[in-house]
Parts: sequence; C-alpha cells; structure tokens
Amino acid sequence: VRFCPRCAAVAEVSFPRSLVCEDCGYRALWSPEPVAAAIPRDASGRIWLLRRTLHEGAGRWTFPGGYVELGETVEEAARRETREEMEIDIELGGLVGVYSRATERTVLVVFAARALGVPCETEEAAEVRAFAPADLPWDELAFWSTERALRDVLRP
Ligand SMILES: [Zn+2]
Repeated sequence: VRFCPRCAAVAEVSFPRSLVCEDCGYRALWSPEPVAAAIPRDASGRIWLLRRTLHEGAGRWTFPGGYVELGETVEEAARRETREEMEIDIELGGLVGVYSRATERTVLVVFAARALGVPCETEEAAEVRAFAPADLPWDELAFWSTERALRDVLRP
C-alpha cells in the first residue's frame, strides 16, 4: 500500500501500523486481530485436540479456535469455533492466557473448557483425539502458542 484510498495521493505509510494522507487527511490504523480458542477436557481430564487440515499448521495438533467476528463476544467465538471444528458444545471455564508476539498479526485468547459430548472429525479436523496430559504430542503441535497454552492449562 502506497497511495491514499480516498484521493490517490502518495500516503505516509508506517508498515504495518498506519497510513496517513497529508493531502486529504485520510487515516487508517491497523490493529492485531483477536483469535478465540478453547481447550476442551473430558470428565477424566484428558484434553481433546484436533489435527489441522487448514494451510497454516496443517497436519499438526492444536485445540479449536479462530477469529472473533463482529457481533459476537470472545467467549461466543470460542464456543462457535469449537462447534465448527469438533462438533461439540463446551462449557467455558476460566481464562488460560492471552498470547501475542510483536511480529504476529493476531492476539490469541484461550479458555479452559469442559467438553459436553464426544468430538468428531470435520472439514477442519482430520483427526480428533483425547490426550492424557502425560501423552500430549508436544513435538507435533501446530503453533508456539499451542504449546504455551497447554503448559499453562496444566499448571496446578
Ligand atoms: Zn488522501
């Protein structure tokens, strides 16, 4: 992006944060986007993970999550994404943590959750499996934040 979207003058761009046009006064600011996620556990404390089918992190394990949409809360997004990716409802517990890096475009918000049902495979989940905490696939996790949040949820 180099030009003002309103008047097409050359704009002052501070990538990736802002665009300011001195000709017409147009300003645009970009912020990181929130992603909501849940770590669903069964009655015996096992953690349900899914093996991703989508591009980023494909073939690797994570918990369900996705972008928060306008018109819903972060909690609602966590429940919706879990339903979409695992076909179960969940009861949300407490906040596990908030994960971000200055070099990334998202802020991940992770909740503890109780699985109300048994997940199944979906278009976004090639495989779903309940892992006992001692058996979690630490070497096959999709993202750095997946590992951090799992360690945090297991912290006594
Ligand atoms: Zn302009």
